[in-house]
Amino acid sequence: MDLSQTRTASLGFPRPTTIGSYSSLNIAVLPLTFTDLPYRESDHAALHDAMREFKKYFEAMSYGRTIISYQVVALADAVVMPVTARTYGAFGEDIDLERVMRDSLSTASSSLKLASYDMVALEMARSDSVRFWPVAYTNSIETPNGRVGGAVLAGGWQGANWRAIAHEVGHVWLGLEDLYDMTPPPQYDGTFWEYDLMNSFRGSAPELTTWHRFLLGWLDDSQVRCIAATTPRKTTHYLSAVTDRNSFPKMVAKVLSPGRTLVVESRRSRGYDKVNDSVLVYVVDSTRRSGDGPIEAKAELTLNKGRKPRQDRYLIPVGSSIRIEGATIRLVSSSKWGDLVEVTQR
Ligand SMILES: [Zn+2]
Repeated sequence: MDLSQTRTASLGFPRPTTIGSYSSLNIAVLPLTFTDLPYRESDHAALHDAMREFKKYFEAMSYGRTIISYQVVALADAVVMPVTARTYGAFGEDIDLERVMRDSLSTASSSLKLASYDMVALEMARSDSVRFWPVAYTNSIETPNGRVGGAVLAGGWQGANWRAIAHEVGHVWLGLEDLYDMTPPPQYDGTFWEYDLMNSFRGSAPELTTWHRFLLGWLDDSQVRCIAATTPRKTTHYLSAVTDRNSFPKMVAKVLSPGRTLVVESRRSRGYDKVNDSVLVYVVDSTRRSGDGPIEAKAELTLNKGRKPRQDRYLIPVGSSIRIEGATIRLVSSSKWGDLVEVTQR
């Protein structure tokens, strides 16, 4: 979830103004302790593990094009919060992030020099009865010790969960949107199954889409195959699995209409994904807002004739080809490493 929409997240260009660059992040991790939710040594050990995973994840998603540095503040410097966790609403779904930020950043020791980092991750102890959703604050914050570039807050039932921290940091650092669809309120209803960490941080396919990696400059131009009106009617493309770090092409993209792009990529059950091997076909609609289903899965292409679509509220068609607005994408052959796809335009 992204609480502040002033520095608006976006799925297109121009990219929102970010706290630094997409090629590095230096983040301070600040434990908070409350009389009704004391932060323990075991929380601290788990947080260290989570941040190691956090660093590994983004370095893998960027194919080594970003450098993550972090400093987990020592247990002795955990911020002793002035009021209870319950007062901030931590036991409900919506915590008062602004108040937690204001109180924690003004109470934190000036010796921590929090303003010298790109942003701050606030972390509360692990507890299953503390049910607030992790949140992001994407604006900078004035503190008595200088300006902090942005903040995320997690803990409770999602305490020391690297995926929750990484999802929220994706809003602040990378300006990425929520891919889930909250349009039919109040329930979560995805249009993109569990693909991408910005969709579901609890899902089984948290590898970032090639679209996101393209936006962030984590793909070379030669790894993006664009289909334009001037491209021959029929073209064939080799797509290397998204998860593999190499210089092969990763995505085929075709603009369907202003702000709407068709993307084709190869997903494999490797790296962070536990999925059926597929060519994933989806439409990115940058005119839709965050949390409004801005990416819609259109098909999972496979040559496995026996495979049935997954049981889900949002059904993704399965087959060897799909036709979308005048373009036909056909899976020609498949290997462990990638897929050969043919694109035919009207
Ligand atoms: Zn979110």
